[in-house]
Amino acid sequence: MEFSFECQPDKLDAASARAIAATSLCRLTQVFGIPTQQAMARPLELVVGVGGSQVLGDRMHVDPSAHGRRPVAQYFEQLCAHELTHWLLPPSPALLWEGLPVWLGDNYVRSRNGSSYHDWSRALVELGQAPHLHELLRGRTYYLERPSGYVDIVAGSFCGFLLERYGGARVRESLQAFEPPSQMRPIVDVGPIVRGLGVARFSALVDGWHDMLAQRVLDPALVTTIQTRSERSRSPGRLRCDLCFGPVSDERCADCGAGADLRTVVVTEDARARSNCRHQ
Ligand SMILES: [Zn+2]
Ligand SMILES: [Zn+2]
Repeated sequence: MEFSFECQPDKLDAASARAIAATSLCRLTQVFGIPTQQAMARPLELVVGVGGSQVLGDRMHVDPSAHGRRPVAQYFEQLCAHELTHWLLPPSPALLWEGLPVWLGDNYVRSRNGSSYHDWSRALVELGQAPHLHELLRGRTYYLERPSGYVDIVAGSFCGFLLERYGGARVRESLQAFEPPSQMRPIVDVGPIVRGLGVARFSALVDGWHDMLAQRVLDPALVTTIQTRSERSRSPGRLRCDLCFGPVSDERCADCGAGADLRTVVVTEDARARSNCRHQ
């Protein structure tokens, strides 16, 4: 892993950032059953600076400048683990693409303060405010609804459930069978992932997640927090491409150039439906 500081965020020194990145990478490779040496040998340039956090090929930007009242090292670890998870995993539907990094980055670090996305999800489901997981398989829906914060919470909790139930190695293996949607084939087919986990339908995974949540104690403080928050208005999220999750302006994706087909993405898990779509 190469390392550079484009801009020194306050109070985060290079040695600490380097150590946090190395420790996070080591932890994540263990979660997914990837040989650590193999991951370490893969080229990765980590740029710590300002301007947002994202992975572009083998260049990873981490921007902890918005740490607010949180210690900057802690916020850096959260973002770094999130982006490293993106870097380690193959493409997947938005629910998993963001949910896995949210669980292993955001929830992992926040849980040290006693917060748990499982507990949040338990309360959201109780109040009927949990976003529908099936709808979050589509990138466009996921990113449009993301500003509420509840999208990341339920996606993270659902992915945490998958990791706890099936183990990271099997989850990663199941993602490898996923064929990302393209302009030629604008279909998000979760079937291979679902079957890779040994279940017949996506809804069976959702049921398993609900059963796990139902066994947790409902936190009345979270219920109150959510009820108070729901009064606030939510700003809409960014419009993103269903195919590659790139930013969309004037109905065209800035990253992959997709245009008209942005509106025609189909989510399925049925192999027959998939072949029918293909011949339309
Ligand atoms: Zn992300
Ligand atoms: Zn795109």
